[in-house]
Amino acid sequence: MRKEQLQAQIEKVKAELLKIGPMRPGSLSQQYSACQKPGCKCVDPVRPQKHGPFYQLSYTHLGRSTTQFVRPPFVPEVEKQLAAYKRFKALTQQWVTLSLELCKLEMQEARSAASQSTPTQRS
Ligand SMILES: [Zn+2]
Repeated sequence: MRKEQLQAQIEKVKAELLKIGPMRPGSLSQQYSACQKPGCKCVDPVRPQKHGPFYQLSYTHLGRSTTQFVRPPFVPEVEKQLAAYKRFKALTQQWVTLSLELCKLEMQEARSAASQSTPTQRS
């Protein structure tokens, strides 16, 4: 019974994974900068206003870390992709957790089945 429940939960996780759209790892941060050009608002002696925000996406994939700028109109889409990746990670982790439990149960079953068979039946 417990085994069937685990299998059903794994199937649910798989179905959820299929629903995941475009994804990307990493995080988005906002940066502000000062160009330091004389007379620019960013170096105003009274009310300096830095340029920005600039959106910067940072991620590590296959051991390589990358940072790139994202233009403001693309920010909502990128945020959706980042959320999709988080969901993907959470679901695969859940799958592994359920699978470990299932493997453990199957091994227990195999062990108790082996101890129940009588050694005299061996040819
Ligand atoms: Zn400036």
